[in-house]
Amino acid sequence: MAKRGVMEVSLIFPEAETIRKYYRGLIYLAARTCYSEKTPQQIWDEFITDKTPPERVMKLIEHVIESGHHSTIEHINFTFAISGVSRALSHQLVRHRIGVAFDQQSQRYVKYKEPQYVTPPSIEANPDALREFERLRDMSEEVYHRFLEQGIPAEDARFIFPNAVTTNLIMTVNLRQLMHMAGLRLCTLAQWEIRQLFKLIRKEVMAADPYFGRLLVPKCVPLGYCDEKRNEDEHCRIRPHKNSVFRVWELYKRGALVERETS
Ligand SMILES: Cc1cc2nc3c(=O)[nH]c(=O)nc-3n(C[C@H](O)[C@H](O)[C@H](O)COP(=O)(O)OP(=O)(O)OC[C@H]3O[C@@H](n4cnc5c(N)ncnc54)[C@H](O)[C@@H]3O)c2cc1C
Repeated sequence: MAKRGVMEVSLIFPEAETIRKYYRGLIYLAARTCYSEKTPQQIWDEFITDKTPPERVMKLIEHVIESGHHSTIEHINFTFAISGVSRALSHQLVRHRIGVAFDQQSQRYVKYKEPQYVTPPSIEANPDALREFERLRDMSEEVYHRFLEQGIPAEDARFIFPNAVTTNLIMTVNLRQLMHMAGLRLCTLAQWEIRQLFKLIRKEVMAADPYFGRLLVPKCVPLGYCDEKRNEDEHCRIRPHKNSVFRVWELYKRGALVERETS
C-alpha cells in the first residue's frame, strides 16, 4: 500500500524571538533612512537601545505598508521547510521568480524506496475514481522500481511518476513577495492544495508574530475589491467584485451630478 503524503510546513528561520527583536526594527530602519537626515547607523542604534518609542516604529511601518512603499519590507526574510506536497503543487510554487529562493528534493539523485502520494479530496470522495487512481499510482510505482532494477537511472525512471508524487522544498522569501504570493494563493480561486500550503505558512508566521501573520491575506483584502473574472457572480464574498464597485461609483457620480445641477 503506497504511503500517503502529509503536508507539513515549519518556519525554520528566524525564531520568534529574533523576529520580535529585529524585524520591525529592520523595516523601520529602511523607511526612516529615506526620510531622515540621520545616518542608518544612528537610526539603528536608537532603535536597538530602545530609544525609539515602539508606537513611532509601528506608525511608520503601517504607513509604508499601506502606501505601497514596499521595498522597505524586502529587508526581512522567512525560511520555510515544506514537505509532503505534490509535484503538482511545487510546479505552481516555483513559478514565483522574484524575492524568493527554492531548493527542492531531486528526483535525479534520490532513488525512492517508498514514494508517497497526495490524493485530491474529489478523488478520495469518489470510490470508483479512487480505485482507478490507486491502480495507476501502484502500477507506476512497480514500473519505477523495475526500471531501477534494470539499471535505468533514477532521472529517467521518474518519468513514470504521476503529478501526485510528493516532494520537499526549502523556501526563503522576503516579506514583500510573501505577501504577494499569499495574496494570490490564499484567494478562494487558487488551487486547493497550494491554498492549504499558504494557510499553513500563515499559521506558522502567525504563531511566531501575529503582526506579520495578519499581513498574509487574499489579494482582495488590501485591494478592497475582487479583480478575478471568475468571481463576477460574487460567489466568493470576501470582498465585492470590482464590477459592483464601479457600478456603485457610476451611480454615485450620476447622483452627485444631478444634485449639483439641481442645487
Ligand atoms: C489562480 C492562478 C491560476 C494560474 N493559472 C496559470 C495557468 O493556467 N498557466 C500558467 O502558466 N500559469 C498560471 N498561474 C501562474 C501565474 O501566471 C504566475 O506565473 C504565478 O502566479 C507567479 O506570479 P507572478 O507572475 O506574480 O510572479 P512573481 O515571480 O511572484 O513576481 C512578483 C511580481 O514581480 C513582477 N515581475 C516578476 N517578474 C517580472 C518580469 N519578468 N517582468 C515584469 N514584472 C515582473 C510582477 O509584478 C509580479 O507580479 C496561475 C496562478 C494563479 C494564482
